[in-house]
Amino acid sequence: MAGGETAVIIVAAGRGSRAGGDVSKQWRDLRGRPVLAHTVAAFSGIGHIVLVLNPDDMALGLQHFAGKVVLVAGGDSRNASVRNALEVLDPDIFSTVLIHDGARPLVSSALIARVRAALHTAPAAAPALAVTDALWTGAEGRVTGLTPRDGLFRAQTPQGFHLAPILAAHRAFTGDAKDDVAIALAAGLDVAIVEGEEDNIKITWPGDFARADRILGGSMDIRTGNGFDVHAFTEGDHVMLCGVKVPHSRALLGHSDADVGMHALTDAIYGALAEGDIGRHFPPSDPQWKGAASHIFLAHAAGLARDKDYRVSNADVTLICERPKIGPHAVEMAAELARIMGVEADRISVKATTSERLGFTGREEGIAAIATVTLVRP
Ligand code: MG
Repeated sequence: MAGGETAVIIVAAGRGSRAGGDVSKQWRDLRGRPVLAHTVAAFSGIGHIVLVLNPDDMALGLQHFAGKVVLVAGGDSRNASVRNALEVLDPDIFSTVLIHDGARPLVSSALIARVRAALHTAPAAAPALAVTDALWTGAEGRVTGLTPRDGLFRAQTPQGFHLAPILAAHRAFTGDAKDDVAIALAAGLDVAIVEGEEDNIKITWPGDFARADRILGGSMDIRTGNGFDVHAFTEGDHVMLCGVKVPHSRALLGHSDADVGMHALTDAIYGALAEGDIGRHFPPSDPQWKGAASHIFLAHAAGLARDKDYRVSNADVTLICERPKIGPHAVEMAAELARIMGVEADRISVKATTSERLGFTGREEGIAAIATVTLVRP
């Protein structure tokens, strides 16, 4: 096979009037972004995406997907649209192609992987679900007969193909086809069936939006972040640790109040959100944060998580020092962190360890802290 890369063609050139609404279904909002944005995101890890749009939708396509996909104008029929996209794929680069309905935004990475894996042993592969309901024929509101369901499947996408044979099949095909498997079969290609998914629905009717919304609502997002911080000792008579003032023969040196535990926890939250670190949100070069109380940072990170619909499921902070002794203050520290973050105290842990007199913490040159946090978006 030439090349070896996999291309993705997402077909969204139809007007989709059956789904109702003023705009065509692929541009309607689903949980804050167009249906098509969900579909494109599902394939973003695969590589090169060619998005086939109605010529009237090109400006919308640029607005949402500039730099992320190659836009191609669709033709008069579905197969004409797919062929337009196939013709722009360089066979020296791509050896396989996945062709997917733009109106199937809920396709899972596992399903995509099954189709790609099947292409190792077959020139074509497509997902499908065996029909499990009884099938009737009917007329005028009455059942007129029964149809055996054995060997019947409901076809889905992405349908995967080796590029050269599906391009040849499209070039040879005349007429109208429901999908690309039909075109592959017309050319005599062997098509492997892989297991489809009930959630991989094609949004067709108005009620499908509500169903897609429910399915997306059930996909919980769980994130873990970690943070690490160190501050050196300096002259002083107390340290601030996890929001609690602890009497000590030294103080911690730092640009803010040097609360090393709270800094580690704040960075863990930013990390879980992929939102950088404290330095990005509160630049040390900005004098307004000099000597700032660290609870400002932690409250900001927790607020950012809330804004993104995450809640703090738990956090665990470990302080690493020989002295001061943390144990007597640990419960108060956890309660203070919980209060600042606006979560229940039993979700927050503060504990301590020494480094067995080894290293900078062992020599009592400073205190280190590590933190882990789990954020959950239901
Ligand atoms: Mg710090």
